[in-house]
Amino acid sequence: MPAFSQTLILKHFWANNPSLSSAPSANKTDEDLYKEDEEFFDFYEDVYLEASKFGVVEECVVCDNVGDHMLGHVYIKFNDEEDAADCLTSFKSRHYGGRMTDVEFSPVTDFRESRCRQFDDQCCKRGGFCNFMHIKKVPPKFVRSLREEAREAKAKMDEERRKEKEERRGRSESSGSSRSRSRSRSRSED
Ligand SMILES: [Zn+2]
Repeated sequence: MPAFSQTLILKHFWANNPSLSSAPSANKTDEDLYKEDEEFFDFYEDVYLEASKFGVVEECVVCDNVGDHMLGHVYIKFNDEEDAADCLTSFKSRHYGGRMTDVEFSPVTDFRESRCRQFDDQCCKRGGFCNFMHIKKVPPKFVRSLREEAREAKAKMDEERRKEKEERRGRSESSGSSRSRSRSRSRSED
């Protein structure tokens, strides 16, 4: 386990249903996928948006494997290592589905290396017990909409923080400390 990484692993986080996981999805439309596995997409959305509060999420993948050492694993890769660290600290102290979140840094940064290509092509003969990642299919359109929503939420949060800061300063000025204000004014006149 690395001391730092852009990627977090949340172990056994997704309550995988093996009967759904073996269903081939090759010829299904996005709408079929949503309908069939509504619970999963709700879950994915929650995780994605929650993680995005800490920074830009580059990738979020959920394993469909059913072997004990991979069952329900979720990987979240951030743009920035520090955001991953903040997210880790926060998630560590939380409960999800009645138990503590088991989360740590993961050395995986390139999912192309560890994913099972046969699974993507619907022909993995090892099935759910395969040792390569069987990454659950999430339509790119869905991910894009989450990314957009996360960005808007972040912008709103930043704006609120900025306002709060201003209000705090406004209060401290009215309570008599005008020194910092006049100093910044004289600086801007230079
Ligand atoms: Zn496989």
